[in-house]
Amino acid sequence: AGLRGGKPSWLRRRLPSGPEYEKMRQLLRTRELHTVCQEAHCPNQFECYARGAATFMILGDRCSRSCRFCAVRHEPPGPLDPGEPERVAEAVALLGLRYVVITSVTRDDLPDGGASVFAATIEAIREKKPTALIEVLIPDLQGDRRALETILAAGPQVLNHNVETVPRLYPQVRPQARYARSLGLLAAAKLSRPQLICKSGLMLGLGETGDELRLVWGDLVRAGCDLLTMGQYLQPSAANLPVARFLPPAEFARLREKALACGFAGVAAGPFVRSSYQAEALYRQTPAL
Ligand code: SF4
Ligand code: SF4
Repeated sequence: AGLRGGKPSWLRRRLPSGPEYEKMRQLLRTRELHTVCQEAHCPNQFECYARGAATFMILGDRCSRSCRFCAVRHEPPGPLDPGEPERVAEAVALLGLRYVVITSVTRDDLPDGGASVFAATIEAIREKKPTALIEVLIPDLQGDRRALETILAAGPQVLNHNVETVPRLYPQVRPQARYARSLGLLAAAKLSRPQLICKSGLMLGLGETGDELRLVWGDLVRAGCDLLTMGQYLQPSAANLPVARFLPPAEFARLREKALACGFAGVAAGPFVRSSYQAEALYRQTPAL
């Protein structure tokens, strides 16, 4: 594949459009809600909305951390918005979503890292659309087990926390995060709720090696992680980390097989795979269901 426009041909995709996309945009604007789908200009929007899936970003659009791969504004976060859980739940009901991912910026400024707002959002969705499956994609909560318990007690179907990259690259990629802390959070969730489905994700193309990936897969499986996503890192702006390598689709397919052999129940891997991509299909691969 050629490298036209700086990207290999397999990474060129049409921008989202169509009635589902317009409906979503309108609703988000009028309700002052944020989705990762739109904020991150996710290339999968058309497909995901058509499947009845979306990823809401709660707790504001400014982050107290500054991961080098991330396009979210790195500024002091604003005050909490008390009506947000209800508005997310209304949007889920109005859009008829079947599978909802709730995520947030990292709020190191809040005593519980925003855990109580995650819980309130899960509860509000349960009330307004009891059949919706809920996945939370949480920040590391600075390893606070009580904050984690607040979220788990609200009963999400899936607890997702991304380790994002291999430990060697943490100082460059996630300077305020710790690999062991992220692994520990996943392990604590599984220990607390053995029936809970735990999930994590990696961005590839940041300079990681195959051996490093194998070690991370092993760590995740031992921590009780059931599901894994692996996608291509794409530099969101010139201020973000450059891409070290574009992995061809066939390489993702091979890595998926290798990761499955390490013991995950389900693995999604491909250039366009994001943490929440085809999340319902991945969830349904877990044997307990
Ligand atoms: Fe939204 Fe995730 Fe789908 Fe992208 S992959 S459109 S962020 S639900
Ligand atoms: Fe972006 Fe999350 Fe890092 Fe904040 S903590 S900069 S939202 S990846």
